Amino acid sequence: MPTVMKFGGTSVADAHAFENVARIVASQQRAAPVVVVSAMSGVTDALLAATVAAGEGRAEAAIASLEATFARHHQTAAKLLTPAAAQAFSKQVDNAAHQINELLRSSADNPLRRRPTQDAVLAYGEMLSSELLAEVINERGTKAQHVDARRCILTDDEYTCALPLMPDTLFKARDVLAPILENAFVPVMGGFIASTAEGTTTTLGRGGSDYTAALIGAALTADEIQIWTDVTGVLTADPRVVPEAQTIERLSYAEASELAYFGAKVLHPKTIQPAIEGSIPLRICNSRAPEEIGTLVGPQTETTDRTIKAIAHKSGVTTVQITSARMLGAYGFLRALFEVFERHKTVVDVVATSEVSVSLSLDDASALPVIVTELEQLGIVGVEKGCAIVCVVGEGLRGTPGIAARVFSAISDINVTLISQGASSINFTFAIEEERVEEAVRRLHAEFFGKRG
Ligand code: ADP
Ligand code: ASP
Ligand code: MG
Repeated sequence: MPTVMKFGGTSVADAHAFENVARIVASQQRAAPVVVVSAMSGVTDALLAATVAAGEGRAEAAIASLEATFARHHQTAAKLLTPAAAQAFSKQVDNAAHQINELLRSSADNPLRRRPTQDAVLAYGEMLSSELLAEVINERGTKAQHVDARRCILTDDEYTCALPLMPDTLFKARDVLAPILENAFVPVMGGFIASTAEGTTTTLGRGGSDYTAALIGAALTADEIQIWTDVTGVLTADPRVVPEAQTIERLSYAEASELAYFGAKVLHPKTIQPAIEGSIPLRICNSRAPEEIGTLVGPQTETTDRTIKAIAHKSGVTTVQITSARMLGAYGFLRALFEVFERHKTVVDVVATSEVSVSLSLDDASALPVIVTELEQLGIVGVEKGCAIVCVVGEGLRGTPGIAARVFSAISDINVTLISQGASSINFTFAIEEERVEEAVRRLHAEFFGKRG
């Protein structure tokens, strides 16, 4: 049965990286690979910046800003492909540039179309990288066929963060991909991009290529979903903060979900659910060091003698406190409170309640002013911006006493708010001020995993 192999942006950052990917795919030919690929690293950011500039009325500057991005695609193709194939690909890049420029010019006049235009522009990143990768894999001797992912992943019209329409997506993906696999070709498609039932382009939200891979894996009941990135698996902490972080060999789905949700960027949080539903193992591997054994995520829960497996963190969080004596012994209060967030489509992450107050954290505070006005009908509202969430994760937390004491003594001089231990008891989560989060994570890592050497 097939293996889905997803390669992130850094795995296709330049010609050398494309060569590596082609080699990795060829080496797994017998596992019936289905390849999902991100845009070349930095391309989505560049396209997004251009749509923002165009939306602010600077369409010509936006268009000029993308010249380097297109040049990079031309140059990468010229290094990788035969002259004829490179020329054909360059024509596609020129077409994409032309269409993007049209979209950027028209978006300046129509603010209502801002989000659909953004998706239409961003989609070119994945379209181009996947076309190029399919060609490179072919030229290196493995039969590959490019697939437009928008034929496989169908979503609602919530542009920039669309939700897949599940039965349709499972059916379409199977319908498109099965015949290609039967003919022993490797399907190669862009991640992140999708379309509505009417055929308008949507995207699954930033970092969404992992999610595409999981959806395709579920549709094909794949043997494994592999996420190839620039680090060897899920590490005990974010390596940009803790350079000595180590690879975790095994994680349960529940542990991986908590880590992904609370900031371990290596996995998009939505990736886990389709894997759970299909009981498909997820493997996180390093495309720069394919021989290194990464992390296997599966249904098994496995405790280690270390109790905790990893520390995740995310910054840019806002916390909100609502205090009201009316809460005491009253029912319906929490419902009224959460309905405010629901009305404004705002996701609440961590919640802690006492008799008379509720504290919660938000990732996206864009609707906060109106939310606060409505919450003020319920009680006294306090808002704290510039917070960070730290989440300590491990199946071993279940029933191990003293973890909270170790956490708090390691960071005893840092003010901790909003403490929550999830119902699953495999995470211990709290908020602190953003400015001290890296220091806190480093200290916790030293406490639970020891220092290097
Ligand atoms: P890709 O482009 O392959 O999707 P991402 O940049 O989205 O890659 O994710 C990989 C990055 O996630 C790593 O380079 C690392 O900096 C970051 N990261 C954060 N937390 C973790 C963690 N716990 N384990 C591994 N990587 C992490
Ligand atoms: N290219 C998209 C992004 O940068 C999707 C992805 O890489 O997963 O967000
Ligand atoms: Mg990613």
